[in-house]
Amino acid sequence: MPELPEVEVTRRALAPHVEGLTVRAVRVRDRRLRWPVPAQLGRLLAGRPLLRLDRRGKYLLWRFPHGTLISHLGMSGSWRLHLTAPPPPGAHDHADLEFGAGRTVRVARLTDPRRFGALLWHPRGRGDVERHALLARLGREPFDARFDGAYLYAATRGRRASIKQVLLGGDVVVGVGNIYASESLFRAGIDPRRPAHRLGRARCTRLADAIRAVLTEAIERGGSTLRDFVGADGSTGYFTLAARVYDRAGLPCLVCAAPIRRIVQGQRATYYCPRCQR
Ligand SMILES: [Zn+2]
Repeated sequence: MPELPEVEVTRRALAPHVEGLTVRAVRVRDRRLRWPVPAQLGRLLAGRPLLRLDRRGKYLLWRFPHGTLISHLGMSGSWRLHLTAPPPPGAHDHADLEFGAGRTVRVARLTDPRRFGALLWHPRGRGDVERHALLARLGREPFDARFDGAYLYAATRGRRASIKQVLLGGDVVVGVGNIYASESLFRAGIDPRRPAHRLGRARCTRLADAIRAVLTEAIERGGSTLRDFVGADGSTGYFTLAARVYDRAGLPCLVCAAPIRRIVQGQRATYYCPRCQR
């Protein structure tokens, strides 16, 4: 499943090629994504310039003068950029956004076998897209300067759930999926079962730093796939960082050699070192 690093790498790959260009056509071949793709999307976007491609959590925000196209990759989606006319679409290539200026053509193609992704239009008249129902309750961005130990400390007071589950909830900080939660807690030396409200300030600072480090590493690893991503035959695979605890149950901890433990929290697997994480 694409996580924040994949979405951020996708954004970085697409943005320099499409920002500032005008939409020439939109081809939606299958409107049945998680929610129906607006039938009039082509009419809404044709002739309009893409001002900027932003990301909020796992949503890409395609900002136009008159509104924002919100896209999400769901369980299995990916965008691929074609710098020339793309090949005939395959069965899971549900939508093309064609940009152009003069003889320049760029086609961003959305592929999504399981169709849990989304393409939604938010007109400017309905207010700031950040207040859209899908975005309004998202936690802080991990790379926002305001995401730090002090924030994490304040945001976890009164939260009795385990710190692992609070991270996964996404309402405190976005982008910490299941793998990244285990990895961040390992690097911060925090027991994933610890109630969030019992983390002190120093641990909150360590955890905020660890989350940023883990996500940065994943994005940098993903960046190495960029060359394959842009081009007629390119595609992005999903990628992860080299995990230190995730999926390593029974194997020795890379720090202390104690066997890594696997537990289940909220029906999701958690991996941790019982000696390094307190
Ligand atoms: Zn250890």
